[in-house]
Amino acid sequence: MFNLILFGPPGSGKGTQSAKLVEKYGLIHLSTGDLLRKELKLKTPLGVEAQQFIDKGQLVPDEVVIGMISSALDENASARGFLFDGFPRTTAQAEALDKLLELKKSSIALVLFLDVNEEELIQRLINRAKTSGRSDDADETIQRKRQDVYRKETLPVAAHYDKFKKVIHVDGMAEIDVVFSGLTSHIDKKIA
Ligand code: AMP
Repeated sequence: MFNLILFGPPGSGKGTQSAKLVEKYGLIHLSTGDLLRKELKLKTPLGVEAQQFIDKGQLVPDEVVIGMISSALDENASARGFLFDGFPRTTAQAEALDKLLELKKSSIALVLFLDVNEEELIQRLINRAKTSGRSDDADETIQRKRQDVYRKETLPVAAHYDKFKKVIHVDGMAEIDVVFSGLTSHIDKKIA
């Protein structure tokens, strides 16, 4: 299995680049944000619990997202690999993911970190709010809260994988196709 984490703050382009990467490399896309929004739409008990956190720009409890990822890994046992998007978002999630992959005799090959400055992120999220229909995009206070949570709780995940020399930074401010070729050149080097 070949597993990647696409890492970066909210609005850094993870969703856009993930769609292109899974198509090119035949990976399964696992976005905890997308999985949670599906539950929310269906009004499942998990979705109802998650909504209160999402609407405030806070993280959903670790055990909820780890459980979702664990099920998704089991459901796709014969996958070539996975692309994790928006997960792990805390060091506890990263440690749980490492253990789940270890049980499958696998690991994270690379953490691709999209670098985008904060003012650009807020601008992108304001634009995204016009079409995404996401209530957590529409409110600038919630957006800033999400950037705050990212800095405090999610950035340490990069430090976790940095210990294993797995993190590569890519300039996320460039055009979509330029960012994509930056990402693929690192992936291709790793695969070769
Ligand atoms: P995203 O689509 O990745 O921006 O996620 C939207 C919201 O879903 C986040 O602001 C969190 O409230 C929640 N969420 C998504 N992924 C996670 C995760 N790995 N851990 C905790 N909460 C998450």
